Amino acid sequence: MNIIDMTIHELHAALKGKRVSSVEATSAMLARIAAVEPQVGSFITVTSEQALAAAKSADQRIALGECDLLTGIPLALKDIFLTEGIRTTCGSRILDNFIPPYSATSWEKLRDRGAVLLGKLNQDEFAMGSSNESSAYGTTRNPWDTTCIPGGSSGGSAAAVAAREAVATLGTDTGGSIRQPAAHCGCVGLKPTYGRVSRYGVIAYASSLDQVGPLTRDVADCAVMLEAVAGHDPKDSTSVDTPVPNYSAALTQGVKGLKIGLPKEYFIDGLDPEVQKAMAEAIETYRRLGAEFVDVSLPNTDYAVATYYLIAAAEASSNLARYDGVRFGHRAEADGLLGMYTKSRSEGFGNEVKRRIMIGTYALSSGYYDAYYVKAQKVRTLIMNDFIKAFADVDLMLTPVAPTPAFKIGEKAGDPLQMYLSDIFTIPVNLAGTCAMSLPAGFSLSGLPIGLQLIGKPFGETIILQAGYAFEQATEWHTKRTPL
Ligand code: GLN
Repeated sequence: MNIIDMTIHELHAALKGKRVSSVEATSAMLARIAAVEPQVGSFITVTSEQALAAAKSADQRIALGECDLLTGIPLALKDIFLTEGIRTTCGSRILDNFIPPYSATSWEKLRDRGAVLLGKLNQDEFAMGSSNESSAYGTTRNPWDTTCIPGGSSGGSAAAVAAREAVATLGTDTGGSIRQPAAHCGCVGLKPTYGRVSRYGVIAYASSLDQVGPLTRDVADCAVMLEAVAGHDPKDSTSVDTPVPNYSAALTQGVKGLKIGLPKEYFIDGLDPEVQKAMAEAIETYRRLGAEFVDVSLPNTDYAVATYYLIAAAEASSNLARYDGVRFGHRAEADGLLGMYTKSRSEGFGNEVKRRIMIGTYALSSGYYDAYYVKAQKVRTLIMNDFIKAFADVDLMLTPVAPTPAFKIGEKAGDPLQMYLSDIFTIPVNLAGTCAMSLPAGFSLSGLPIGLQLIGKPFGETIILQAGYAFEQATEWHTKRTPL
């Protein structure tokens, strides 16, 4: 088997069996990156030298018999994760020259177990977008069809896994940014429950919604990555102090007797017929495996997109106030302090980020605070209650990830509202603070992947991983490789 095609488990077995070294594996990935980057554009920064040095020390650890599951495995990170000494842009011109003095906890946990960092991945600017088109570093292209978007905002993280430029990656998900690109690129992506993974050292977009999670080739790898990054972090007061389950051990428990909810608001007329067909087939597969389906309702779904885009923009306008040209990032030459702030921010931020800052500032302004921000918070509570009620009857829910397969580059770029609406099935999960996973569930006639979403109860990652694994064992979608 070709090294670049391997999962974490397969590469680990090869490393442990001394059939391949981490330096060989890392070199193979770097060669692959060099070969396909001109077409895909997943990376903003490739850290070849550091990667080879890390691989060398991983090989030394392995030679001493210390072969952890992640030792010597080449991974890559969305450019939103701070990496000490390695440029971190968050897809923005304003951080073009930013070299962080410390690293994100999630990356430190992987690094300490011997993982190798290949580089930093392209994303929508400050994670605002669903297509990667808002990156200041060019649009990542979908490796299944390079005229299409890879999804966003963790588009580079998904495209890199699909194009075999990294064994697995980390992304972040505020309103769908792990699950939607995973669906569009045919990989597995999991957004953990709010509080499950530390966000220390992850550049903040909307702090009441942001979560860190893995993108991988299969569900077993997803369990390994989640286990590695999950857990309480004293440096992030929103990380929850509950024990991390052994997700991998639960994978094989099957779905017999599990009750899966089908929220009726997610199976609407406007759904693409090919997505609809893939969902119907997935439901059939689960029935065959012994799961039971129950119709449920999430009645406030219609308000989710509006609620999200108010709350996320409000929080973003506050979080992004720190980019003022004084402490870090781009600084413009101008007369006076105010002139310098204005010019630095005008030059540093792209249009989508400016749009969000303006919407958010408006929603938080004294005259409109009650009408927009407070109202959105109240609707958020209603949406959370919808989930609590639905979960009283079921163990998990099954829905599409996105209403259509990946769209063409440029198709929605001029119409922000259309772009926002494409997040309809992923956003409610973030508002409710619970967990969900996207996994490959079919292809469109034109050869684009279609994703299935499994939504779990808060801290119900074990069940969605278990159900995802059962689906994967019964299907072959996750074994398909891009034509590139
Ligand atoms: N597309 C959504 C947005 O633009 C979600 C992004 C995300 O999850 N980071 O806000």
